[in-house]
Amino acid sequence: MTRVFNFSAGPAMLPEPVLEKAREEMLDWNGTGMSVMEMSHRGKAFMSIAEAAERDLRTLMEIPDNYKVLFLQGGASAQFAMVPMNLLRGKKRVDYVNTGAWSKKAIEEARKYADVNVAASSAADGFNSVPAFETWQRSEDAAYLHYTPNETIGGVEFPWIPETGDVPLVADMSSTILSRPVDVSRFGLIYAGAQKNIGPAGLTIVIVREDLIGETLAGTPTMFDYKVHADNDSMYNTPPTYGWYLAGLVFQWLLGLGGLKAMAQINERKARKLYDAIDGSDFYANPVDPACRSWMNVPFTLANPDLDGEFLKEAAALGLTTLKGHRSVGGMRASIYNAMPEAGVSALVDFMADFEQRKG
Ligand code: PMP
Repeated sequence: MTRVFNFSAGPAMLPEPVLEKAREEMLDWNGTGMSVMEMSHRGKAFMSIAEAAERDLRTLMEIPDNYKVLFLQGGASAQFAMVPMNLLRGKKRVDYVNTGAWSKKAIEEARKYADVNVAASSAADGFNSVPAFETWQRSEDAAYLHYTPNETIGGVEFPWIPETGDVPLVADMSSTILSRPVDVSRFGLIYAGAQKNIGPAGLTIVIVREDLIGETLAGTPTMFDYKVHADNDSMYNTPPTYGWYLAGLVFQWLLGLGGLKAMAQINERKARKLYDAIDGSDFYANPVDPACRSWMNVPFTLANPDLDGEFLKEAAALGLTTLKGHRSVGGMRASIYNAMPEAGVSALVDFMADFEQRKG
């Protein structure tokens, strides 16, 4: 068996020890005689798995007690609608910051429910930076401000957290959650699809300050009401049990590594290695303002795009897969989430240098 270094933006690599543990427990979880997939979500065994996962996530992110942690379905995309449906709370206007493809999707969906003010945008420089906070034109009466701390396609990451005072700050952390410590108390709501840094696709995590929930827009489906999920410990209906279990194994793995501070050091090192390789060459380029380059998603282009196909083919033959850039951007994209080993980044950098030497 050979496992590859998979640079996919998501679903992405999972830590090997997590997959091994899951394999070990596949047929018989802890003497129950069944796999986690076959358990009642209301039974004692699964309840213990669910509680441990939440407890470990709370420890990892230092989530304050006045925040609910929800284990939901529908992906981050469902949150694009759930956020306005739950957080408008009688208001009409919301502020959004547009830093690229995922911000735009969130904005388009919010427009169905609210009067959206785009408070800031980095469109003018091709979405290669983060708009300076002093330039943001925020509304007086915004129900919340939404932004995307890490744009998965553009590879742009906020190096700071906006200060919005009494206006709840909402963040789509799909591609940055658990990559470094964050001060959860600065946020009203954080959401993330699981398939990058949390676990398998099918699970979405929402962390929400409890005073913000309970007043939904008229017509909100029951399944879209955070309060319903909070009051039922995310078991109003059948939750994505296996994803929840695997997320718990990932949280255990992170705790074993030393938590998010330790993970951040590794991530910074991995990202620096790759950006240094790109910047140190005339053959590769990354257009993003160095102050806000993503640690997780690193897009880069080759000086001669006619070589893209060859680059991808040779990389794949070496076990470096899924490096093709997003169709809207072209070139390459290396997603180097928590589970990408440092050896994977080293192998990529070595291949890039070798390819340049032969073809550049
Ligand atoms: N937001 C961001 C930042 C993403 O990267 C993605 C997925 N790539 C989404 C939202 C959409 O997530 P999902 O497919 O889970 O709905």
